[in-house]
Parts: sequence; structure tokens; C-alpha cells
Amino acid sequence: MTEKWLIGVDLGGTTIKMAFINFYGEILHKWEIPTDVSNEGKNITTDIANSIDEKLSEVGKTKSQVLGIGIGAPGPVNLDNGNIYEAVNLGWKEEYPLKSLLESETTLPVVVDNDANCAALGEMWTGAGNGAGDIVCVTLGTGVGGGVITNGDIVHGKSGAAGEIGHITSIADGGAPCNCGKTGCLETIASATGIVRMAMEELKQSKLNGRLRSIFNEEGKVSAKDIFDAARDGDQLASTVVDKVAFHLGMALANIANTLNPEKIVLGGGVSRAGSILLDAVTENFQRFSFPRVAKSTEISIAILGNDAGVIGSAWLVKNRIAE
Ligand SMILES: [Zn+2]
Repeated sequence: MTEKWLIGVDLGGTTIKMAFINFYGEILHKWEIPTDVSNEGKNITTDIANSIDEKLSEVGKTKSQVLGIGIGAPGPVNLDNGNIYEAVNLGWKEEYPLKSLLESETTLPVVVDNDANCAALGEMWTGAGNGAGDIVCVTLGTGVGGGVITNGDIVHGKSGAAGEIGHITSIADGGAPCNCGKTGCLETIASATGIVRMAMEELKQSKLNGRLRSIFNEEGKVSAKDIFDAARDGDQLASTVVDKVAFHLGMALANIANTLNPEKIVLGGGVSRAGSILLDAVTENFQRFSFPRVAKSTEISIAILGNDAGVIGSAWLVKNRIAE
């Protein structure tokens, strides 16, 4: 059994990342294909099945080498049947039978979970979680995703919507509108989109000059990376934005930790590449708002698997749900 391969699939709105992974969580081969969202996303499972066939023959193996497929999808999952309730990015507007379609197209067993949950499982298995069984992962990308792991497994909740950390309300009265329909969600502040939005507001309201304003004047826009780079350089305007992000993120993480007291909170996604300028400021606010015993025992760190977390976590699902 342990010589068998696990297939991890990370299904995103623009690319589908796939990998053959061994029982120790090591990637043997990885590749990606574009996501075809035309025709209401109906080609996606066929594309995955064909791509796996091609890759297996390319490396001289057959399906008998494979134990099963784990797939992380960008939407809430019905765990009873492996359906995705909806995935707007993929064109799946109604409940979509991802597990059953992919099983019939590949003739392999399939396990489905949410993409943020898979990233969390990946970090738990071979990443920054370092084997910890109680971790919370927060993905700071275009949006803010979350995965909560307690006792070594994902918390799904009643309808698959547990871990929606991006939609913790950070600003109770007002705040910017969120894609979910509410306002003032953490995602409107701590995502790359939110950080840029706040910087644009600061640029408009403040008269301060500096590196960030120069970049804006030259390029007509700023990126989240520009903002962190400028803050690292001592730019006051950029530092104001980073302070706001760190305040709201640190407070949200403290509230999560006060509830769960995880061993680790892992920050991943593009924004987490800002590194210590973000981590130090978030940790400071986290310490301020967390219960003293939590502050001493819960550690915040940056994810280490990068884009591989999703495929590794999806493979973990195969190892732990199909192999047993
Ligand atoms: Zn929201």
C-alpha cells in the first residue's frame, strides 16, 4: 500500500495544479493545466482525467500505481456526497457532483474538500505545522481563506462553511463591501485587494510624500508588494496601512486562538510573502488581544509550502480517507 501514489489536485479559477505524491507527502511529479471555465465549467473533470492519463503514460505508469485522487475545490463541500454547493469562479452555479463525475471519468476513488482546507492539511502534514494536530491556516491572497484543524482533522461545521476566517467581521459599523454581501469583513482589509484599497484611500486623504506616492505617481497604481516594500523602507503612508492590516488581522487571530488555542497559526498566500514586516506586527497585536495562556502557547508563523500546500493536502485526504 505505501508504495502506491496519491494524486493531489488543487482546482483553482485559473489553473488546476496536480501532483503525484508518495505516502510521506513528497511530491514525485507536479504539473498544471489551465482551468476551462467555458460551458459552465463542464469540461473541468474531463480535462483533469485526460491530464492524469497523459502524465501517467509519460512517466511509464498505469492507474494501478495510484491509490486515489484528492481534490480541493474553491467552494463549500457537501461531505456526504462530495458535491460542491457552488463555485462561482468555475461556473458551477448549482450543486455540482464533483466526486461522482471525477470518479466515473478516472475510474479511481476521489475525495473532495474545500481548497483552503486542503492547503491547511498540506501545511499540517509537511509544512509549517510541522506535524501539529491543532493548527489554523489563513491564506492571505486575492481574498482571505481559512482552514481549521483540531485533533489532526479539518473542522467542517454543519454546512461545510467552518473556517471562513475571511468573513470575520472586523469593522462592525460600515467598512468596505465584501464579495459575500456583508461589509467590514477581514477580507476587505487583510487580502491583497483590501490592502491596495486601503493604500489608495490613504493616498487620497493624506498629503504625505514618499516612496509609495512616487510609485503611484509613476504607475498610476500600487500593489500589495509595493506597500510592504515601502513600509520596510520607512515610508510613513505605507506603514499606516500595514499597521491597520496588522491590527485587524492580529485581533481576529487572537479571537480565533482564544476559542481554539491551536499550537500554530500559519499565514500563507501571496501577502504572507511580505515576511517579518507583516509577521512581527501581526504577532504584536495578537499578543495584545489574546488570553495570556493563549498568547504564551499559540505561535504564529509563515507558511512554507507556497503553491504546493493544496496538492499535498489533497493527497493527505487520499491517504487518510481512502487508505484506511
Ligand atoms: Zn465577507
